[in-house]
Amino acid sequence: MANGHPEEPFSEKLRVPEALTFDDVLLRPKESRVEPDDADVTTRVSRDVPLSVPVLSAAMDTVTESEMAIAMARQGGLGVLHRNMSVDGVVAEIERVKRADELIIRDVVTASPNQTVRQVDEMMAERGVSGAPVVDGDDEVLGIISGTDIRPYLEVGERDEVREAMTDEVITAPEDVTAREALELMYEHKIERVPIVDDENRLIGLVTMQGILQRREYDQAARDDDGRLRVGVAVGPFEEERAAAADEAGADVLFIDCAHAHNRNVIESARDIKAAVEADVVVGNIGTREAAADVVEFADGVKVGIGPGSICTTRVVTGAGMPQITAVAQVADVAAQHDVPVIADGGIRYSGDAIKAIAAGADAVMLGSYFAGTDEAPGRVVTMNGKKYKQYRGMGSVGAMRSGGGDRYLKDVEEDDEDYVPEGVEAATPYKGTLESELHQLVGGMKSGMGYVGASTIPEFKKRSEFVRVSPAGQTEGHPHDVIITDEAPNYRPEE
Ligand code: 5GP
Repeated sequence: MANGHPEEPFSEKLRVPEALTFDDVLLRPKESRVEPDDADVTTRVSRDVPLSVPVLSAAMDTVTESEMAIAMARQGGLGVLHRNMSVDGVVAEIERVKRADELIIRDVVTASPNQTVRQVDEMMAERGVSGAPVVDGDDEVLGIISGTDIRPYLEVGERDEVREAMTDEVITAPEDVTAREALELMYEHKIERVPIVDDENRLIGLVTMQGILQRREYDQAARDDDGRLRVGVAVGPFEEERAAAADEAGADVLFIDCAHAHNRNVIESARDIKAAVEADVVVGNIGTREAAADVVEFADGVKVGIGPGSICTTRVVTGAGMPQITAVAQVADVAAQHDVPVIADGGIRYSGDAIKAIAAGADAVMLGSYFAGTDEAPGRVVTMNGKKYKQYRGMGSVGAMRSGGGDRYLKDVEEDDEDYVPEGVEAATPYKGTLESELHQLVGGMKSGMGYVGASTIPEFKKRSEFVRVSPAGQTEGHPHDVIITDEAPNYRPEE
């Protein structure tokens, strides 16, 4: 092949296969016996990690830190912590998620017997607790003190010692206590907190009524085998150290985070990371069946998306990409044969896009812009022209690469901003309120889609759904048209 001339004439390259994305297709309505509320959206994000809601929040520094991850897991989805932070930082974030809904609080606020009642009252107010176990220098539990014990002393004996005011007959429990047993103890003794002690009566934790009731409120939560919230963690393609530390700290799923994972070095390194950790390992992003064939051999899940993201400029900067519906379908063709779950990552603007991605073969979807405007996303709310916004930026934007490096894009860290060749932009997104209400709209719309197709579970929906092709005229017809919207709908924002 002299001069790079292919064996076939160049003009043969123009006989190109068609690749489609969300707006090109619609789900064909079918006879149905399924009411949307009855649709079951349980799924798997990777071989060993089930979710009750098929949704992930993106590993981006304007989307997912521990606050988002906690909220996502409580609602039954999964937050994936971004990696623009130190390894110690991510370990602390994982621990925060894992501790959030733990039955036993480990970081207990304690009082000592010879503090004054006034001091303990101030300490409890400062730390936001309404009671504290009283321990001696060896952490042995001597009593427990609460607001009720303190109140009579504040008027007349605020300098009295805690040992005078505390309740000294303490009801304690061992570390293996269940939520049910703890509640029974509280009920029987009319108390609200039970110190957890070891064989020598030394304090190791605390179970509170409030904590138990809070766990109950989230009955759909994504939890690990120990009842702790699940969390995903992004690691760079060559970051073995971060992967090991995140695994050790209890991450449930590691996401090899690369814009083009169909790269021999990335695949080899991902394979090594997979062999070294206990957590499931999802490899991405990819967008073709050949890439899928190379990663399903070892990965516990695959993530699809080459350039569909709202803040992403990969396709215009590099000329490469794959429209998302075709990308998902191609990868799912291969992954399904190996029973490996597929995640559709990027480009989802509406709940309809999310359920189309599932119809194309995905088991779950990952969203960035959809969640970046919620309270739980990092960053402040700013007001511009009387409207509220939050910052949202691509992880391949100059700003994000400056604070985290460019290895997601297989690039080196640069000295000067001008030296970066970014594949993303920095933007603002409308402020949206709580994650819970956004997720409710997203999942509600997806369930309605399942109703139109007549499928009551995700696997059934994947089999039963069919697409029709939509013309540009059909796309216009699909959005509100020929009207002026007077009241904003919670699940529809016209594209600006
Ligand atoms: P969105 O839901 O906003 O459409 O897309 C979010 C996804 O875009 C992320 O999960 C990630 O895969 C991808 N992404 C994030 N930042 C960038 C970027 O700067 N460039 C590119 N090419 N993709 C990005």
